[in-house]
Amino acid sequence: MSTLIKHVTALTLDEADTILQDIEIALAGSTIVAVGKAPADFAPDEIINGRDLLALPAFFNAHTHAAMTLERGWAEDLPFDRWLNEKIWVAESALEEEDVAWGTALAAAEMLRSGTVGFADHYFWMDQSARVVEQSGMKALLAWCHFGLGAEKEVGQIPFAETVAFAERWQDAAGGRIHTTMGPHSPYMAPPEVLARFAREAQRLGVGAHFHLSESEEQLRNSIARYGKTPTAHVAALGLFDLPQPALVAHCNVVTDDDLALLAEKGVTVAHTPKTYQKLAMQMPPLARMLEHGVKVALATDGPASNSDLNMLEVMRITGLYQKGALGDPEALPLTQLLRLATQSPAAALGFSQSGVLAPGHPADLILVDTTAPHWIPRHDSAAGIVYTAHPGDVAYVWCDGQLLYRQGEYLTLDIERIRWEAEKRAFRMVGRPMTSMRAYQG
Ligand SMILES: [Zn+2]
Repeated sequence: MSTLIKHVTALTLDEADTILQDIEIALAGSTIVAVGKAPADFAPDEIINGRDLLALPAFFNAHTHAAMTLERGWAEDLPFDRWLNEKIWVAESALEEEDVAWGTALAAAEMLRSGTVGFADHYFWMDQSARVVEQSGMKALLAWCHFGLGAEKEVGQIPFAETVAFAERWQDAAGGRIHTTMGPHSPYMAPPEVLARFAREAQRLGVGAHFHLSESEEQLRNSIARYGKTPTAHVAALGLFDLPQPALVAHCNVVTDDDLALLAEKGVTVAHTPKTYQKLAMQMPPLARMLEHGVKVALATDGPASNSDLNMLEVMRITGLYQKGALGDPEALPLTQLLRLATQSPAAALGFSQSGVLAPGHPADLILVDTTAPHWIPRHDSAAGIVYTAHPGDVAYVWCDGQLLYRQGEYLTLDIERIRWEAEKRAFRMVGRPMTSMRAYQG
């Protein structure tokens, strides 16, 4: 399949942040072959008129629990411990394997519609998530979340070895679109011997690890009391930062300068999910200090049970607005830095380091955004339009690895009617809500 997009404006996110007007972009197979002028002999299968459309690299989401779409809107206006104990764990105790398939499919549809083609998923029954990635055409870094409590207490009663077997089974599947990693829940749930075992398995499989880290003062205090180390130093000592692939850690709300130096030295990426922190009134991580220390940061949504959606446009916007306000500095986090934190940085953290730029030879992971809505006019600054004004509904075309997945409201790989019906039915069942309000599914 080859495609020629003509007369388009392109926000390339190349090293010079080049913005090109009225150009051609040529896609062939899974790759971008030209940005500027297509080769004279290029014979596309399809031509798209790109006038009034803006091309840019697609978004990647560095940390989510995709199937938690099923708990969206179920646990609102609660402090973290009540949110978790009274609502989330109650719903999850009724989770069944097939629920994960439909919850993840709903997440995939939501992400595609807002221009995201890749996500780092950390949940249970991950074969279901992998099948959704395979079918949807998206890219992902998948980890089977494991608490280290003993199989009889894990969700789905899954033994440690099966979470590892999942990673082995799906590594580089779906034509290389699926990467896998080890998924301990966190150092506050998993005991040291389980974390060390994950590090050994990661070495054996040639993968990394993805887990929650250092989310509160309480976790920091408990870790120092129990292990004599901060959570960051504790996992480093257990080998989780010296793996074949760099670790991806979510949050780091409360970290010391020594922690930041260690994260930078080990090439760890910190997933930053500001909407969850604001909604659950958690301490905001020291993003500016992280970046000053040279820590890799990638933006993410977290699971929709805590942040309500999977919209990377909103995550970029909240990150920029919050940091400017908190630092008292309107020059903090300029537009293209925010765009990189939502494209190149998370793509690299997922193991797709060539994505996130519109340039020949790079993967065709890109979107076209319709810029004709009133909120786009006048089109002085394309980057400002994406970061501070675009709506998810402006996303008109989405390609991943050269495959067109979404076109002007139409899903080309997902059955959205069935996904909506199955997901809502299952979400209601999980919380014991009668389904009399639902109309029958007409497939
Ligand atoms: Zn999380």
